Amino acid sequence: MPALGEFELIERFFTRPARRAALGVGDDCALIQPTPGMTLAVSSDMLIEGRHFVSTVAPELLGHKALAVNLSDLAACGAKPLAFTLSLALPSVDEAFLAGFSRGLFALAEREGCELIGGDTTRGPLAIAITVLGELPAGSALLRSGARPGDDLYVSGTLGDARLALEVFRGNVALDEEAFRSVRQAMEAPAARIGLGLALRGLATSAIDVSDGLVGDLGHILERSGVGAVVEIDTLPRSAVLAAQPIEVQRECLLTGGDDYELLFTAMPERRDAVAAAAGNAAVAITRIGQIEGGRGLRVVDRHGNAVTSRGRPFDHFRS
Ligand code: ADP
Ligand code: MG
Repeated sequence: MPALGEFELIERFFTRPARRAALGVGDDCALIQPTPGMTLAVSSDMLIEGRHFVSTVAPELLGHKALAVNLSDLAACGAKPLAFTLSLALPSVDEAFLAGFSRGLFALAEREGCELIGGDTTRGPLAIAITVLGELPAGSALLRSGARPGDDLYVSGTLGDARLALEVFRGNVALDEEAFRSVRQAMEAPAARIGLGLALRGLATSAIDVSDGLVGDLGHILERSGVGAVVEIDTLPRSAVLAAQPIEVQRECLLTGGDDYELLFTAMPERRDAVAAAAGNAAVAITRIGQIEGGRGLRVVDRHGNAVTSRGRPFDHFRS
């Protein structure tokens, strides 16, 4: 890479003094020592221009989101973030882009105590691959497989805003400037629910982060746990902006919208007070949206218990 050489680029934008790591950026390997007795939790996510983000997104937001989506996987396991690696393909050395990207990335990394310890840098179509490392006490990970019939089903925050923003970009929905700004924020700068994930250790029977939409991600819990579930659609938490949309749009965004990065989890009804206290301690709103049942599959019902469909088919508003 001319202009700024590869090593100068890494030094300038992606090297910070190692704090927790025994050895950070700059050698052949990074070295990291987990706290004795803890298990490492490892997860990777990749973001490709055109598929996961648009070229016009602000670099700072992209840096934030690339790490946030990875931290969200740690949150869903109840792991505490330790460190991450960053592999970057860059079409050119754009210093303004790199400065913004690294600012957004490190702001979140420092807030969550997650240290950049290495990576790889190459020329190519813009792509960002991050691997995060976290730790948790052996045997305490929140898994997709632990839901049992009778468990309550909860979700954090609100659902559907990121999808609504995407539909505005696609020209399918029009919003005024203020409303668009708020849903765009949900799409471009999601929070990772790390504190909530930690607080739910020993409390939630299963958990997943909602990255592909409620129906799809709940489906993973149901399949891995060998159970079914009922969700009452009117209880699904939504922003005021989404709540102002036609009911079909709301339902589509709530049920199938992706990119929410909220936690979806189950817990025994006897633990309701403890779950509420955990969410309070983490300062994250949670909502009880349904229940795990015996049998298989998901039933989405209205408040009268009637099955909810969209134009005779389940939830495909924007595709029809
Ligand atoms: P190697 O040839 O051994 O793979 P590199 O020349 O690719 O090493 O990288 C040199 C050092 O810079 C390594 O410590 C590597 O982990 C780090 N590094 C490379 N790219 C990045 C990046 N985008 N962010 C953080 N560290 C990076
Ligand atoms: Mg390399």
